[in-house]
Amino acid sequence: MNIPFLDLGAAYLELQTEIDAAVARTLASGYYIGGPEVEAFEEEFASYCCATQAIGVANGLDALHLALRAMDVRPGDEVIVPSNTYIATWLAVSQCGATPVPVEPDARTFNIDPALIEAAITPRTKVILPVHLYGQPADMDLILAIARKHGIRVLEDGAQAHGARYKGQRIGTHGDAVAWSFYPGKNLGAMGDGGAVTTNDAQLADRIRVLRNYGSRVKYVNEVQGYNSRLDPLQAAILRVKLAHLDEWNARRSIIAQLYQTGLAGGGLTLPHVPDWVEPVWHLYVVQHPQRDALQQALTDAGVGSLIHYPIPPHRQQAYGQAGWEEGAFPLAEHMAAQVLSLPIGPAMPASDVEQVIEAVKANLA
Ligand SMILES: *Cc1c(COP(=O)(O)O)cnc(C)c1O
Repeated sequence: MNIPFLDLGAAYLELQTEIDAAVARTLASGYYIGGPEVEAFEEEFASYCCATQAIGVANGLDALHLALRAMDVRPGDEVIVPSNTYIATWLAVSQCGATPVPVEPDARTFNIDPALIEAAITPRTKVILPVHLYGQPADMDLILAIARKHGIRVLEDGAQAHGARYKGQRIGTHGDAVAWSFYPGKNLGAMGDGGAVTTNDAQLADRIRVLRNYGSRVKYVNEVQGYNSRLDPLQAAILRVKLAHLDEWNARRSIIAQLYQTGLAGGGLTLPHVPDWVEPVWHLYVVQHPQRDALQQALTDAGVGSLIHYPIPPHRQQAYGQAGWEEGAFPLAEHMAAQVLSLPIGPAMPASDVEQVIEAVKANLA
């Protein structure tokens, strides 16, 4: 058996003619920074998210960082983040000189627990930054109600949730803005780095457009100390091709997730919990088991790829050592780091492979 965790090359093979044509068209266009491909992708992605604005940037971390800057997050400010997320969510806050204030997840959904947010709010809190982890939307209505009550903004980390729906509406405009990553392994992935912010707030969009381009609106006139963080036109052209297939690819992920949910039920693993008000896009299919490391080793020995998202929570990383968080500071995040295992899932994965993974997992739990 040789079942990879994710076959990234498969997307290219499936769309090779279209992608090659998009790349050739862009190379011949003479636009290598900005230009028609970036503008067209921004329009198409905004429209897909039902947002009025999309601003392409260099990567997902920059999308988070520039959105926070545009919300005027500064040193001394606090931003509420999930205790269990990819470290980029926290780093974007730190890059503004602000302090990430971690809040523990709901144990069943892995997403930030709205019931714990209010206790973390202080007069310095400027933004709540929920993450739609593993492709499943956080409970936005509760989060937005808290934010409104306290007069603070909401930035969503949508890096794992392209196309996911919360109460019927696609992620893209629930909060003040959504930051996206097009890292190759994401549901909508480029063939290199890429990112974007979507919003319905024209003023916020304008500030991000200026920040991504050296703080400049008019060439050689610099309003603010900005950044160089632009979406590459080649990546934009490739993303336009892939965006047209996103719903179909998400549907294939969903079928695989259903096969796992049924095939692995009652086998001793904790399976993903999906509240009936979300439609996740299954960026990852994450199970939990107390003997996670042994299970992963057994799967590796059987030829089944798997990964851990994520083995060390941000507060236990050396990068945040200065903050002085002890082991046990965020027990749920630590518990998940010790027990989670991501099984293979992707738009190109054949159903026969899913069945084999299910058999391999069952054989090793028996
Ligand atoms: C991938 C990811 C990011 C960062 O995206 P990059 O494009 O790699 O910078 C941020 N947040 C989450 C939750 C992610 O999964």
